[in-house]
Amino acid sequence: NKTENQMLIIFGASGDLTARKLIPAIFDLAKGGHLPENFVVLGASRSDWTDDEFRKNVVTESKHLANHVDGPTKKVMQDFCDRLFYHELSSDQDSDYSPLKKRIDALDNEYGTGGNFIFYLSTPPSAYEPIAKSLYEQGLHAETNGWRRLIVEKPFGYSLKTAKALNQALQQYFKEPQIFRIDHYLGKETVQNLLVTRFANSIFEPLWNRNYIHHVEITNAESGGVEKRGGYYDKSGALRDMFQSHLLQIVAFIIMEPPLNANAEEIRNEKLKALKSLRIMNDEETLHKNTIRAQYISSIIDGKKVKGYREEENVDPNSTTETFAALKFFVDNWRWADVPFYVRTAKRMPTKVTEVVIHFKTPHHQIFKDSGLQNKDNKLIIRIQPDEGILIKFGVKVPGQGFKVERANLDFYYSSLVENNIMEAYERLLLDAMQGDATLYARADEVEAAWEFVDPILNYWATSDAKVYGYSAGVWGPKNADDLIDGLGMWRNPSKN
Ligand code: NAP
Repeated sequence: NKTENQMLIIFGASGDLTARKLIPAIFDLAKGGHLPENFVVLGASRSDWTDDEFRKNVVTESKHLANHVDGPTKKVMQDFCDRLFYHELSSDQDSDYSPLKKRIDALDNEYGTGGNFIFYLSTPPSAYEPIAKSLYEQGLHAETNGWRRLIVEKPFGYSLKTAKALNQALQQYFKEPQIFRIDHYLGKETVQNLLVTRFANSIFEPLWNRNYIHHVEITNAESGGVEKRGGYYDKSGALRDMFQSHLLQIVAFIIMEPPLNANAEEIRNEKLKALKSLRIMNDEETLHKNTIRAQYISSIIDGKKVKGYREEENVDPNSTTETFAALKFFVDNWRWADVPFYVRTAKRMPTKVTEVVIHFKTPHHQIFKDSGLQNKDNKLIIRIQPDEGILIKFGVKVPGQGFKVERANLDFYYSSLVENNIMEAYERLLLDAMQGDATLYARADEVEAAWEFVDPILNYWATSDAKVYGYSAGVWGPKNADDLIDGLGMWRNPSKN
């Protein structure tokens, strides 16, 4: 794909995401020679910075860039700084946008960026609509002399209603194909590899259905707590923060039908169909039985006390916000009828890991009944992070007399394929947007379909007396989460290979 000359305008340029992810991603693109010849970044936020202060804060003196720079890249860094500019702006002040437009036009003329602009909204979500509106009023949405794109950070809404309102608001000012909703999980190689594993091989897809798959299990675990994000997290919780966006995108990749081709619209059409086939839990009995929420409680790890969730900074001491969520659900379509899906996401787990486990059914007729392996299934484990890779668990004969069967692993690690040059998620996604490729960005209807599934669960938790269980830091959540997966043994322990 061709990357045309262009300008990237970042709103929220003095914020954490800009310094920690966006600038390092653009810098890596520069290092890798992926930027077009004429390219500039214009940062905008309320902080009273000059161009040089911006360069100093996000590049030359930024701790986030330190490990991206080595001797030979010093020159790249200088060239990179020359392409960075800053403009002071209060995003909710209409009168600030005319000077912004003048600045954009001046830079466009001087640096030959071809009238192609990407506007990246890295501000609090409350600023998304005012920014889109003001850009529209300045005519900066119109693709008369170059193209215009709008990248929107998550969260996309707080509920189905607010997500719809946000989509409608943005679509008043920009057309849907101009809007790129970023979900950095889709920038991960291993998430994209879910599609390749399924659709570029002939050995998995014939088994990828209710006839051969017994159940599917997804674990997303973080070992840390909420750290400094207590204020944000307490209004969000595990289900909104991780499940509605990242994990449902993974679910969509697992359950979707093969698309006609790998084009953005074909893939997103299939993802939408997949998300719409999730069985919505809207009766209390199902919600009670199939959803579990919990919070980490204060505990001792390695001899040190760690705070419970309710003692964290900026967290309401009576908070019912979940730091652990586990769900059991079904997918109502031909391929997946009656196959249970189990998903859990949590903080303060024993380790940081995201993995998908496809549990295959046991052979219909077992001739090695006494092998000790009955009731154990074949598993396909797709490791999203860390130790990205794929593991297949299968039975092999133990050498010696008789037919004793033992579990063996067939494994593949991404690290064996590439050395340190896996593109970071933001790097990959930014490059895609720069090239106009929306395959790995979420469309409005997909986001709403995901909220349709999540909304009733959040409402149930908010309005019922559904128990908030406690769990100690460093264990795999409350015991009750095991009941969810009853009859199937246990959740897989991702710490074991
Ligand atoms: P942040 O550190 O609070 O930065 C927000 C930026 O927006 C600052 O530059 C701030 O600069 C500007 N800003 C604040 N209030 C504003 C307002 N009312 N109007 C206009 N600008 C305002 O937040 P962040 O962590 O960078 O996150 C930015 C966005 O990315 C959020 O929507 C967040 O949900 C999303 N996100 C962040 C991460 C992450 O890892 N940080 C991950 C996923 C998604 P001034 O005060 O100088 O204007």
